[in-house]
Amino acid sequence: MSHIFNSNINIPIVEIPLQKKVKLFIKREDLIHTEISGNKYWKLFYNVKNYLDSKPKNSLFITFGGAFSNHISAVSFLGKILNIKTIGIIRGEELKDLFSENPTLSFARNNGMELHFVSREEYRNKDFIKNKFQKEFPDSLIIEEGGTNDLAVEGIKFMLGNRTMDFDYLCATVGTGGTLAGISKFCEATQKIVGFKTVKDNTLENRIFKLSGKQNFELVEPTERYGKIADENIRFINWFYDEYKIPLDPIYTGKMMQKIFKLIHENYFPENSKILAFHTGGLQGIAGANQLLKKQNRILINFET
Ligand SMILES: *Cc1c(COP(=O)(O)O)cnc(C)c1O
Repeated sequence: MSHIFNSNINIPIVEIPLQKKVKLFIKREDLIHTEISGNKYWKLFYNVKNYLDSKPKNSLFITFGGAFSNHISAVSFLGKILNIKTIGIIRGEELKDLFSENPTLSFARNNGMELHFVSREEYRNKDFIKNKFQKEFPDSLIIEEGGTNDLAVEGIKFMLGNRTMDFDYLCATVGTGGTLAGISKFCEATQKIVGFKTVKDNTLENRIFKLSGKQNFELVEPTERYGKIADENIRFINWFYDEYKIPLDPIYTGKMMQKIFKLIHENYFPENSKILAFHTGGLQGIAGANQLLKKQNRILINFET
């Protein structure tokens, strides 16, 4: 266990030099592990630790996700290195015959994950599926979609510490909201939290508040339509990589960084603010995104990670 999860890693914080009256830094949680990247590592930390401490007889991880899910990818790899069987419930029945072409799902499969494809309607009724599997595999660890629960939020505290204390703003993207809730919960009282939304979900604010217990955060809407990859964003991601040698993903961190640049331009952050953006990982999603973009004859992300 300890050889996989280590909470004492010094993650680099690097400045993104700007000719502006604010200072911007990025914390490279993406570098924490090659396969269990970024926030997924911290969200799994206590969930997996507590589970293994309980010494289950028939250990098994069961979790949920979409076709490009960073979480599915991370859990499948974790199962492989811990030698624990994994089951992934995947949204979209149509993927059943196509998954070998999908980089995320074929990675998961190659790590030994058993994939169950369910319709979008069934997927919406996750509690039903969860109960079914819980009955069938009482010893299993069932992990929510995106890995968000109270223990996941607790693990996010490792993203914060002495080195993040004197930033005025902490920024992260929001999927299910677990990561932002953790940042909100464990930050300093003086810090402001900005969450960059990636999905249309008007229960998010409430959910984050419930998980964190604090109202120190603000949610920001994306520039492009929810779930869409804009050419302008791909150009930004390619430019950012050329300029700063930091890879961003097209679902989460690329959108956030472009939006942060926009907010800085619009003077959203007061003069002399020190801003820290968390790079939460997600780089495994680039291959799948490029595959889609290529099919549509569009501009591609021009680096490999
Ligand atoms: C899953 C993920 C998020 C969203 O995290 P939540 O805790 O679900 O809000 C953000 N960035 C990356 C790269 C992710 O993989």
